[in-house]
Amino acid sequence: MSDKSSAGASGKPGKPGESEDTFLNPVAGFGVTFKAMFKKRLTEQYPEQPKVTAPRFHGRHQLNRHPDGLEKCVGCELCAWACPADAIYVEGADNTDEERYSPGERYGRVYQINYARCILCGLCIEACPTRALTMTNEFELADSSRENLIYTKEQLLAGLDDTMVDSPHAIYPGMNEQDYYRGLVTEAAPGTVRQVALSKGEQPQEAASTFGPEEPASGKVVGA
Ligand code: SF4
Ligand code: SF4
Repeated sequence: MSDKSSAGASGKPGKPGESEDTFLNPVAGFGVTFKAMFKKRLTEQYPEQPKVTAPRFHGRHQLNRHPDGLEKCVGCELCAWACPADAIYVEGADNTDEERYSPGERYGRVYQINYARCILCGLCIEACPTRALTMTNEFELADSSRENLIYTKEQLLAGLDDTMVDSPHAIYPGMNEQDYYRGLVTEAAPGTVRQVALSKGEQPQEAASTFGPEEPASGKVVGA
């Protein structure tokens, strides 16, 4: 082999075996491709195949209830103070015997979480003293409207199980607030009925009975 044939692109003589390496490099590159072809695919077919999250995933919040349907939130605002993104707004109010939302003295009258601000860090649920606030595995929160990203209490409140009656309603007879947290109340007392939420503008059934026979009062009463 002449000196010219073993020279590199620069015209300088190459090292022994360099020309074989230059030939094998593309083949080695395809080797990487072939190996990747038989590896497990990482692509997720979302949204056709919904992603399965970890059990303790930090998703949308939920306001929990006691087993009889009364609310666990006492309107203390600790979650709002703990939030680093200022995403929670709470207004507490007093329960009354005629309109009771939680077993104790206070309840969360207004509760909002702004998901345009929330970073799903979970500090709020750590701060909650009653375990009223927890996080679910729901992560599909995107929306094109800022207004829709502010979730209200009605949206965050947990649904009703078979043992529950929707709030407001009376405390379980013979039980007090501590008994609820000791787990002594396991279902709504027999005969529990939902009270009229006067503070939310609901009307007692008598007041609605001014409608004529073609508009029965029972159809006009919210939550009766
Ligand atoms: S998860 Fe974090 S950012 Fe979101 S409301 Fe709770 S404390 Fe605030
Ligand atoms: S969710 Fe918990 S921390 Fe927040 S106001 Fe209600 S009881 Fe207090």
